[in-house]
Amino acid sequence: MRIAFISDIHANLEALQAVFSDIDRNRIDEVICLGDIVGYGANPNECVDIITKRCPVTLLGNHDIAAINLEYTHNFNIHARIAIEWTSQTLTEANKSFLKALPTKKTMDALTLVHSTPYEPDMWYYITSLEEAAFNFQFFTTRVCIVGHTHIPMIVTLEGEDIRTHQEKYVSFKDKDMMRLLINSGSVGQPRDRDNRSCYGILDTRDESFTIRRVAYNFMKAQEKMRKIKMPEFLITRLGEGR
Ligand code: ZN
Repeated sequence: MRIAFISDIHANLEALQAVFSDIDRNRIDEVICLGDIVGYGANPNECVDIITKRCPVTLLGNHDIAAINLEYTHNFNIHARIAIEWTSQTLTEANKSFLKALPTKKTMDALTLVHSTPYEPDMWYYITSLEEAAFNFQFFTTRVCIVGHTHIPMIVTLEGEDIRTHQEKYVSFKDKDMMRLLINSGSVGQPRDRDNRSCYGILDTRDESFTIRRVAYNFMKAQEKMRKIKMPEFLITRLGEGR
């Protein structure tokens, strides 16, 4: 089985469509969404509509909860807050109900799925270092945990005492029964690793491998739409720079 993981779409319809075109060319059996469908971009409703149709499993992100309850914006910066206020006014009631019902954590077979951390899925902490990854391995019992939230793809493996980050965008864990993995599949709609292409991941359960994929999309069109609705310029320029 080949499962695609998409995260941090952030209402970027151009990026989401480009990723689904790539998914449809890649013999994918199922698409799982790790949260933050909305916030920042110009098409929150269109993105929620696509996710509801294409993803049988979707998790809650911090921007999704903030869009339905503005009290959750207390630790947002000013740009994120302006974006989420617009998003909250724009989302349909049906889409708000959909977001409201999403879980913060899900366990499926050998997989643990969360938007932020397995340690405290509701606290929206980040995993940005090998130390934080090592700490989080204690808080899931499955072989693989897949997260989003930082917008930076990451593959960390733990085998006995040996913990390491993989710079290459592919890891095989075939015939490595003791190996466990903590993976960030990157961001579809607002990549922050200095690569402006959309990012998502593919888990192949038969090959026992994980691949990070990059997909170029028309970010200028997404930027144009954001400018029209007067999103903060910082949020617009960052799409072109991938930061
Ligand atoms: Zn996000």
